[in-house]
Amino acid sequence: MFRSIRWRIAIPYVILILAATAGLVIYLSDLVRDAHVDDLEAKLVAEARLIRDAVATSPAWEGPGDDLDALARHYADLLDARVTLIGADGTVLGESDRDRMQMDNHLYRPEVQQALAERQGSSIRFSRTVGYDMMYVAIPVMAEKRMVGFVRVALPLRQLKANVARLRRAILSVALFTVLGAALLALLIAEYTARPVRRLTEVVQRMAKGDLSVRLLPVTRDEVGALTRSFNQMSDRLRGTITKLVEERSRLTAVLDNMADGVLITGGDGHVHLINPAAARLLGTDEQSALGRPFALVARDHRIIDLWQRCCRQGEEQFESVEMGRQGPFLQAIATPLQDAGPQACMVILQNLTRVRRLETVRRDFISNISHELRTPLASLKALVDTLRDGALEDPPAAHRFLDRMDTEVDALTQMVRELLELARIESGQVPFRLKAVSVEDVVGPPVERLRPQAKRADLQLSVDLPPDLPPVLADAERAQQVITNLVHNAVKFTPQGGSIRVSSSAFRVSEGGAIHPETLNLKLETIPPGQWVLIAVRDTGVGIPAEDLPRIFERFYKADRARSGGGTGLGLAIAKHIVQGHGGRIWAESVEGKGSTFYVALPTLTRR
Ligand code: ADP
Repeated sequence: MFRSIRWRIAIPYVILILAATAGLVIYLSDLVRDAHVDDLEAKLVAEARLIRDAVATSPAWEGPGDDLDALARHYADLLDARVTLIGADGTVLGESDRDRMQMDNHLYRPEVQQALAERQGSSIRFSRTVGYDMMYVAIPVMAEKRMVGFVRVALPLRQLKANVARLRRAILSVALFTVLGAALLALLIAEYTARPVRRLTEVVQRMAKGDLSVRLLPVTRDEVGALTRSFNQMSDRLRGTITKLVEERSRLTAVLDNMADGVLITGGDGHVHLINPAAARLLGTDEQSALGRPFALVARDHRIIDLWQRCCRQGEEQFESVEMGRQGPFLQAIATPLQDAGPQACMVILQNLTRVRRLETVRRDFISNISHELRTPLASLKALVDTLRDGALEDPPAAHRFLDRMDTEVDALTQMVRELLELARIESGQVPFRLKAVSVEDVVGPPVERLRPQAKRADLQLSVDLPPDLPPVLADAERAQQVITNLVHNAVKFTPQGGSIRVSSSAFRVSEGGAIHPETLNLKLETIPPGQWVLIAVRDTGVGIPAEDLPRIFERFYKADRARSGGGTGLGLAIAKHIVQGHGGRIWAESVEGKGSTFYVALPTLTRR
């Protein structure tokens, strides 16, 4: 209870007020009592003087007689007091209330002794004669300049005490009300002072629990008001700082979560303090189990552990290229020391260079392919020119044959350059696709009819199977036909005599969850966005494509079987892929070597969802 400011302010106040009031009550009581006693004494002195003047001349002072008793009783009745007349030797000569014969010598009563010395004496004491507290006043009686005795007047203190007690009660009740009022006031002041502090405490507690929106209204203009205003300023600034920190943190988290590179931070103790999803993925672990574990247990690969240890030891940035297993990703690992955070504090960045390396391979292959593709016709042209120069010119029929062959080679070169240029234009987005609703028949029909004579010459059965209710596709008709032409042309090229080629189509829907209809389609669902699609399939019973070549046939210049691909450039499928991708569609192939291949083209329809 005394821990509260309210009580700590109120209790001392109340104690102080109590002590002051108690002191005042005691002082006032004494003052009243003393005043009453003084009054009474003055009254008794006056009365004693009156009696003295009246009885001074009485001859009875010379010896004991009844006269003084009668006088004493007379004045006692008059004054309503006890009157005692005492001789100079202390013998009681007259007494109003008692039998004087029973009374002892009064010379040594304090009031008598004082009267003897000071001509007036008074005393308050318990009277054994009457049995209660009395006030006595004595004065000497003089007759002819000789002291003949004393007049003593006494009054019981009962009345005085009663009066004093009444007054004291009045003072006490006033004091009690004052104390209660003051205590109440003290409590109010304490409450008034403590309330804003309590409110501040509540607000701070709510802030500590994370509620940063709380504010205090300054109600006073005093120090507490100033404190409240300062507190609000502080809380505003704190809220601003925390909001900024949270924003920065969420931005940083978003960056870390979405970046393709893996990031790992180890603390001074060598344990993982931060790991982003990419790093967890590349290291084949998950973030939760990696956090707080030693780096070596998380990284596992000895080359990455070595790199990290080198970085910690030497305090310098370290690089390492790491191939994670035969089929695993190809990583560039960079370890950077975080000097201030401790001896083993380090940041490890894992860059996934698999795609870059694959592109590098594709680029290298492309260059070697293009050199090869150019070298063959050029070498043949050179040979033909040499042969002509060496004398074949003299033989006109042979010269004609050679010129025809040269013409064919030049045509092949021109075709290759044209296709290369077209591929480059499509890849760089220079070829605009004029997309509109086109019936599947318009996409498939013209190419098939154009190639039908060629198929016939090769003794191949070419059939088309289109269901009647296919929705139109969203396509650039000319480009879409180019794709189908390439697929059917390839099928004709790579199917031996007597085989068959069938172009078919069906509609399917990819729903939001990735489900696909009809379910018979063997598609990689995750690669196809939801919506209504049309699938065109070109199936042949030809030579097929070896499994290891299948993933690469859409690359530029890639030919699965160079011997059989004849005059092909290896660019047709690469162009087809880019055209289909330009439509937002997909192209892929399935094949069994020796049995045949199926090329699929999925094109979007107008109904996207
Ligand atoms: P090309 O001009 O050589 O036909 P493409 O890019 O059209 O170039 O084809 C690339 C390679 O894919 C071909 O050389 C061939 O090996 C393979 N290929 C394409 N279509 C078929 C098919 N229907 N049957 C077997 N192999 C095919």
